[in-house]
Amino acid sequence: MKQTSHYQVLARRWRPRRFSELVGQEVVARTLKNALLGDTPAHAYLLTGIRGVGKTTIARLMAMTINCTAAGEDGEPCNQCAACTAIAAGNDLDVSEMDAASHTGVDDVRDLIDSARYPPASRRWRVFIIDEVHMLSRNAFNALLKTLEEPPAQVMFILATTDVERLPVTVRSRCQRFDLRRLSVAEIQQQLRHIFDSEQIQAEEAALRMIAAAADGSMRDALSLAERVLAFSREQISHNDVQQALGLLTPELPRQLTDAIIAGDAASALQWMKKAASRGYSPRALLEGLGSLWHQLACCRIAPEMLSEEPDEAVQQWMQDVLKQWPHAVLDLHYQVLLHGLRDLALVDEQCGAEMVVLRLCHLQQLTNPDSEKKKSSAPPRHEASRHITPPAPAIQAEAQQATTQQEKTPNKTPDSPAPPTRSSTEAGEARQAPLPSSAVCHDWPSAVAAYSELQPAFAALLEHVVCTRFDEKQVRLSLEPHQQHAIPMQERVSFERWLGRSIIWDNRHHDASSEMTISRQRSERHKAEQQRLWQHAREDPHIQALITALGCSLLEVIPPGMADQDKNN
Ligand SMILES: [Zn+2]
Repeated sequence: MKQTSHYQVLARRWRPRRFSELVGQEVVARTLKNALLGDTPAHAYLLTGIRGVGKTTIARLMAMTINCTAAGEDGEPCNQCAACTAIAAGNDLDVSEMDAASHTGVDDVRDLIDSARYPPASRRWRVFIIDEVHMLSRNAFNALLKTLEEPPAQVMFILATTDVERLPVTVRSRCQRFDLRRLSVAEIQQQLRHIFDSEQIQAEEAALRMIAAAADGSMRDALSLAERVLAFSREQISHNDVQQALGLLTPELPRQLTDAIIAGDAASALQWMKKAASRGYSPRALLEGLGSLWHQLACCRIAPEMLSEEPDEAVQQWMQDVLKQWPHAVLDLHYQVLLHGLRDLALVDEQCGAEMVVLRLCHLQQLTNPDSEKKKSSAPPRHEASRHITPPAPAIQAEAQQATTQQEKTPNKTPDSPAPPTRSSTEAGEARQAPLPSSAVCHDWPSAVAAYSELQPAFAALLEHVVCTRFDEKQVRLSLEPHQQHAIPMQERVSFERWLGRSIIWDNRHHDASSEMTISRQRSERHKAEQQRLWQHAREDPHIQALITALGCSLLEVIPPGMADQDKNN
């Protein structure tokens, strides 16, 4: 039963027995050893960090070091003497461990404090380790605080927590605090390699990397994930085994989805989404996978040497290709839309929500890359066209980027407005029914906002409150209140400007411009005038007058014909 023995030993056998065996906590370990070696160790230590980075292990090592009868000058416990073995086995009378998660009350702490008044039975120090200390109740903290203020001689408290902010400041200020760091994927991977080699378990490097990434900074999680994989696969562990055992996303899936989004190919993107769902992947995990892939891409653009961290050469090549096709502004815009979608996922059925997000990303690609739209219009049936993968033209993308930088550098400068590609593409395919509203039909500001609201309703709603001071074929001037300047992000401005095909100047609004009408104000004025007209009409109507006289009633509401139906539709 080799398997069973692995399952039992991995996590426990590899619990560090010396400070030097800790992974990734060298600085804390060195500082602590020096503190314990000194003449007067503190009476209270506070260890913080995410789950599974070695807080309790370090607490036990500290208890061993100060009680070890044969500790070396390096501050490491000998692991041989009676104190070391008893403490490591967890049955030393002078070293007590309490899990505050299950002992939250004041009585639990009082018992502990009572026993702290007696000197150690056989060791030099009596040590109290309180794990997850943030779970203690307020009264329990108060009881503990008194002892921390005047600790009995030869008593040491070691508090460990994953959530240090929940500790009262009074308690925090009595302790020497050590922050344990989250481990990097490379550190965990290296340790897994060391452990697997020692255990004579064959495993692909890619498999170890996947386990390390899934452990999210925690060595203990990495070991328990490794145990799950071992229970699943007995021989050489491959990255496929890890994927299946842990239910991880195949790394190809986010790449395939990205390809479909870059091509603006909504049909193929939707197919990938359905396929992933049928394989049991959570839609949220898929979107998150997309997000972390795009984050990796963005980092590689800034620091190309990070590309070499990707072990698979084919993937490296793929990333380089994507970076060439996707300028930074476009990638960032997509990332923002993805994040928005992830945030809203809780509101709807996850699969539906995720599919809508991916479709929006495909359409966004068509917006930021009108060329793909043009290519589609040349193929007559729309459904067939949408299956075509049309790689975006780098020239247009570069132009998009240029526009962004121009916008960022000199927002008030009027560029020599280049022939808007959106219009030319629409003129070319005027006869066909446009899948997306085009800016070419916009002859004034209200019609432009109305057309754009079919693409970006939320952004168009913001625009309705913006004053437009100029609108012609070449230029649009908008006057924004200070809060509007903040509310309308640069990326959305850029994509609106691209869509509109005119250069936009985003002015700061001055008070003398207050007489200008926004679309929303115009609308409410129109509505008011219409209401007045209707009321007057109703009051003067002889039939209504006759009804009022005959029934002795009065007019409460006047609804224009057809309005009730419209309300229902809205
Ligand atoms: Zn010892």
